Amino acid sequence: MNTSPIAAVILDWAGTTIDWGCVAPVVAIQETFLEQGISISTSDARLHMGLAKKEHLKSILNLESVANQWIFKHGRSFSDRDVNTLYSYLERKLLDCLASYSTLIDGTLPLFDELRSKGIPIGSTTGYTSEMMRIVQPKAAKLGYKPDIVVTPDQVGLGRTAPLMIYSNAIQLKAYPLHRVIKIGDTIADIAEGKNAGCWTIGLALSGNALGLTKSEINELDFSTKDTLFKNARDQLFKAGADYVVDSIADCGTIIESIALRIRDNHRPSLLKASLPI
Ligand SMILES: [Mg+2]
Repeated sequence: MNTSPIAAVILDWAGTTIDWGCVAPVVAIQETFLEQGISISTSDARLHMGLAKKEHLKSILNLESVANQWIFKHGRSFSDRDVNTLYSYLERKLLDCLASYSTLIDGTLPLFDELRSKGIPIGSTTGYTSEMMRIVQPKAAKLGYKPDIVVTPDQVGLGRTAPLMIYSNAIQLKAYPLHRVIKIGDTIADIAEGKNAGCWTIGLALSGNALGLTKSEINELDFSTKDTLFKNARDQLFKAGADYVVDSIADCGTIIESIALRIRDNHRPSLLKASLPI
């Protein structure tokens, strides 16, 4: 039985509980555009990470440098048909590589066990489709991570930054009110999704898209570069309106405790910032 004031914790997948650095979608997106003779920088591929994948592709095509490359290559602007072609390729690329990027991020299992022991329901949302999650979920489950609910954009008709996947979690978990629910994720889109739903939000700065580096890439950085990049990653999530920003899921336990105390004191999560870039 859940005796905590927290009605549910809803976790993102890539860059939060699996795939440190959120690498799989970046690799797949870059390869998808290369197929069309267009080169995408890692930062462009990461800019709108967390959206449903078709929306993500559109947002990249709308970037000035990419739009110009497309016109140079094709002699015209991109069409909905082009988006569909790119999406089909991206989907295949992701389905091919997801199994290799489903390793759990350190701290996932301890948090999972802690929430379970307190009876707090564990939900999840993602930018991946149901078909993609059919690859990821069993891999994660084999490693011991099995949230109560997984909701994908295709199940509710809209991905982030809309809050519908969180609403679906709340309904299935019977978790309410939403100001007693916590959303945890590594992208601006995750924070916007949580804020749009009226939840508390915890942004993860180092394990996912905000920093966008693997552990070995982080280890290769000198102190001052590390300092600057870490600060930028944290600022990105704070600016998106995250109630808290920590390094990774391994740091969430104490924050969840703090939120529980604040809920007991009738505090409410902060509101959505109007100036989100997505
Ligand atoms: Mg993510």
